[in-house]
Amino acid sequence: MGSTGSIGTQTLDVVRAYPDRYGVYALCANRSIDKLVEQAREFHPEVVCIADERCYEELKAQLEAIRFEGKIWAGSDSIAEVVTMPSINVVVAAMVGYAGLKPTIEAIKAGKTIALANKETLVVAGEIICDLAIQHHTPILPVDSEHSAIFQSLVGEDQSEIEKILLTASGGPFRTFSLDQMRTVTAADALKHPNWDMGAKITIDSASMMNKGFEVIEAKWLFGVPVEKIQVLVHPQSIVHSAVQFTDGAIKAQLGAPDMRLPIQYALSFPERLKSDFPRADLFSLGALTFEEPDLARFPNLALAYEAMRRGGNMPCVLNAANEVANLAFREGRCGFLQMSDIIEKTMNQAAFIPKPSYEDYVATDTEARRLAQNNF
Ligand code: MG
Repeated sequence: MGSTGSIGTQTLDVVRAYPDRYGVYALCANRSIDKLVEQAREFHPEVVCIADERCYEELKAQLEAIRFEGKIWAGSDSIAEVVTMPSINVVVAAMVGYAGLKPTIEAIKAGKTIALANKETLVVAGEIICDLAIQHHTPILPVDSEHSAIFQSLVGEDQSEIEKILLTASGGPFRTFSLDQMRTVTAADALKHPNWDMGAKITIDSASMMNKGFEVIEAKWLFGVPVEKIQVLVHPQSIVHSAVQFTDGAIKAQLGAPDMRLPIQYALSFPERLKSDFPRADLFSLGALTFEEPDLARFPNLALAYEAMRRGGNMPCVLNAANEVANLAFREGRCGFLQMSDIIEKTMNQAAFIPKPSYEDYVATDTEARRLAQNNF
């Protein structure tokens, strides 16, 4: 899911590298027709699926022109259906934002192993997702680089012996900016990420540190650790991808070059490691690895994410919905960089609190929080 995005295309890089091991059953994208056709031509899936129904005719015409013989489906409901098909073993959940929630739930119910890149799914409805995964014996393997690092550090360990999770953050392009400078930065400035090459939405989330806030919540659900035990460290070199501190004081970390193909591949091959020729991190040329405490005054989104988790219930869902509205507005030049946090905070204070939300409550909360956020500009 999300095959034409940054994680999707890198997943296909991994598939391409191991043709004897992996094949593609279905490709699902939002609306990038040309890329999707190109991928279908190379990987011969049995189903190609496009979320935006307005793209269907054009997609069908292009696929017929390359003599594509599989099924062509359209609409977000068809993505929730395709992921349940019997031939599929693993679903790579790499859609952007809230849209990933429903199809991921359906894939879990169908017992598919989930390689999870779409962190918003856990931010919005972590409790439901984890309960379903246990109920249906569905493994959820992290693709997010930090969570993959934590997961790798936990191999052979007992979860009850975790003292602290050390979640690293690059700090993004504005790590050293003053508040005054941050007032006037544009989306173009924020899209220049120092280490990682990612999609536009997550790159803005990374610059505002909302991405790290989401990752704290994601780590809480994936590893069953309360957020008070998750410490964010700003580590500008992005070599230590995260670490775990155990009850005896030992710290285990996973290090490597900043390249998403490694965590993607590990999620697909776990518990095996596959030989790869991806670039290696050269510790000699790196020289020093540094760690700083995050500055919550300049990056209030991180504090808002902790606050949303502390309040629990539907609050992380409100946080996510308001952030999706603010993030898009910033990318479209309709709001300032720091204004994003103000919009999210106001929305969190206005939204009705639901302590134990059902799936339907999350859907209603998402709609309502988006409406509230729109009025907070
Ligand atoms: Mg990450």
